[in-house]
Amino acid sequence: MQGYIHSFETFGTKDGPGIRFVLFMQGCPLRCLYCHNPDTWKIKKAKYELTPQEVFQEINKVKAFVRGGVTISGGEPLLQPEFILELFKICKEQNIHTAIDTSGILLNEQVKQVLEYTDLVLLDIKHINSEKYKKLTNASLEPTLKFMDYLASMNKSTWLRYVLVPNYTDEEEDLKEWARYASQFKNVERVDVLPFHQMAIHKWDELNIEYKLRDITPTSLEQKEKAETIFKSFGLPV
Ligand code: SF4
Repeated sequence: MQGYIHSFETFGTKDGPGIRFVLFMQGCPLRCLYCHNPDTWKIKKAKYELTPQEVFQEINKVKAFVRGGVTISGGEPLLQPEFILELFKICKEQNIHTAIDTSGILLNEQVKQVLEYTDLVLLDIKHINSEKYKKLTNASLEPTLKFMDYLASMNKSTWLRYVLVPNYTDEEEDLKEWARYASQFKNVERVDVLPFHQMAIHKWDELNIEYKLRDITPTSLEQKEKAETIFKSFGLPV
């Protein structure tokens, strides 16, 4: 079995606890307007096609440094659950911490199996308003909320992530609603507000895809702190 892989990073510090090996899978059913990796969207455009064992050999080479563990990101990693299941089984045999960064759009029996071998889920709830979520991602919000319910039912360690995009995801009422929703879950151990930036603009241009956020100013520190204050006021661990 081979996984369609975009790339990997051997010194990741933003995708889970500690220094981590981060694997970026190819393929994503969402079309987020702010996507930093539009080059991951099409699964067949993968740069690498590797078996779980081959990826584990790469992890092994840097095992001494990546003490935090392994995170699988993307793209949407859960598009390839069989591959991840095999890789995570190997990781768990070696006592390596496992994390998945997902939009939560897919929940099926295979994904549920993957979650059994996943120590931490980084779940991106990109908006709390269904219509605005759809406009932002071209997908429905409902599967992500069901995914969150499932994580709660397992009491799975979860970090929530929210990309703060001026004019799109920064309205005060929406932030409060998002926080109200998130604060009901006891398995949410951490919340990260991620500032929007324009560093991926060249990727959209290279792929010749229309980029609608060209005129949006990157999130300021003040805007980020304001959102964090709202989240904290609902008791969220920001
Ligand atoms: S879910 Fe992630 S990879 Fe997929 S379109 Fe959105 S930001 Fe891009």
